[in-house]
Amino acid sequence: MRCEVKQVRRSHFGTHRPPSAATPRGRAVGWLVVACLAVRLASGPLPAVAQQAAPPEPAAASDSAPRDGLPWMEDFAKWHADQATELVDLYRWLHEHPELSLQEGATAERLGSAWTKQGLKVAQGVGGHGVVGVLENGPGPTVMVRADLDALPVTERTQLPYASQVTTTLADGTPSGVMHACGHDLHMTCVTGTATYLAKHREQWSGTLVVIGQPAEERGQGATAMLKDGLLQRFPRADYALALHVDPMLVTGKIGVRPGPMFANVDSVDITVRGRGGHGAAPHTTIDPVVQAAELVLSLQSIVSREVKPTQPAVVTVGSIHGGTKHNIIGDTCHLQLTVRSHSPAVRQQLVDAIRRRAEGVAAAWNAPKPTITMDEGTPSLHNDVKLATRLRGVWDRQLAGRVVDAELAMAGEDFSEYGLAGVPILMIRLGVTSEARLRHFEMLGQSPPSLHSAEFYPDLDRSLETGVAALVSGCLDLMPRAAQ
Ligand SMILES: [Zn+2]
Ligand SMILES: [Zn+2]
Repeated sequence: MRCEVKQVRRSHFGTHRPPSAATPRGRAVGWLVVACLAVRLASGPLPAVAQQAAPPEPAAASDSAPRDGLPWMEDFAKWHADQATELVDLYRWLHEHPELSLQEGATAERLGSAWTKQGLKVAQGVGGHGVVGVLENGPGPTVMVRADLDALPVTERTQLPYASQVTTTLADGTPSGVMHACGHDLHMTCVTGTATYLAKHREQWSGTLVVIGQPAEERGQGATAMLKDGLLQRFPRADYALALHVDPMLVTGKIGVRPGPMFANVDSVDITVRGRGGHGAAPHTTIDPVVQAAELVLSLQSIVSREVKPTQPAVVTVGSIHGGTKHNIIGDTCHLQLTVRSHSPAVRQQLVDAIRRRAEGVAAAWNAPKPTITMDEGTPSLHNDVKLATRLRGVWDRQLAGRVVDAELAMAGEDFSEYGLAGVPILMIRLGVTSEARLRHFEMLGQSPPSLHSAEFYPDLDRSLETGVAALVSGCLDLMPRAAQ
């Protein structure tokens, strides 16, 4: 999921330093930290440690009742319990070996060999490091189930025994850890669990299963690359496509379903504000790009609040601003990086037009050269196919009774949308990955659980995995019924 996590960089505007303990504010913050630690210690171990120390969670205590009378789910749960060790091993391996976007070679190999072992025909190198597995099982529809392969430049701080130790050097020379901080390791494990179940229960369905491991989701490039490389032509063409994405705000054991709009249009905008540099002691001889940029940042904030219809979701965030070199020099330029989010095409265009108008307007007011504005059309918004979502919601309401909730509209982006734009009815669901106990713990602290892309994010594995595989398998069984034979 593209949430545009920014790597921390030293800004020419100065780095933010925590207040010194010698100042009154510093002392107050110090006491606050001590008080928070005391509350944390009183309320139990830190969440990440809690997973190692705590005994395994009770199996589905809260929803044992709805499971009664659901023979498929009971059978599935028994099967899953037998498979769990192998799937957990795969998950841990993937978590310990994260690879950044466009570098997912070892991940694709590992996934491909797991699928080959289950009897799927596997092709590597589709649209870069993309991997495709096909399981033909008689006449009937073709269902594609998608996982994403890539990890993020985040240094893990979970304290899990299998925490990533992988490091890298970013393009700007900054050292960084690499981490599956968006849960793609769990997506891959759920999809592999689904392929394993369907390979072992061929008598329960008829049709063709296509599983894919898609590279470069975090860059919004992988789906397009696989489609351009003939995903829908070289392999059986999907009649439906399913995927899931972990959701740390949703309790383990639950899935979130939403027909129609689900994730946002994501656009990246770069603005170079131009001025005329000179001595910091003679500002009247210059056109200061830093002050222009400061005005522009504030002006941009009123696009959503004053121009966009209040009922339309929209975001304009200035995530990065760099200008100047030294205290006493007024530079020539200042560079701003924005992420722009919307759901409707009309609002998307409205935001882009307003950004351009305001950037040029500020420059005109300063008698400055026109700014350079470049837009990178990123990920298109994700619309779940309404008919498919409604059909499978009915299936999950029966098969996973009590575990299905309405998913919220989100401003994150997901390039799973590209398969929908290519003409395949798509459905992405949210998968709860934070245990009830952990959610309560954070609630008590007055905090949210670590979000996706956080260095402290991790899923509570067993129950998340069982629910994810159950949802994908039951969806596939409904879409490829045995009656089609
Ligand atoms: Zn993601
Ligand atoms: Zn992500």
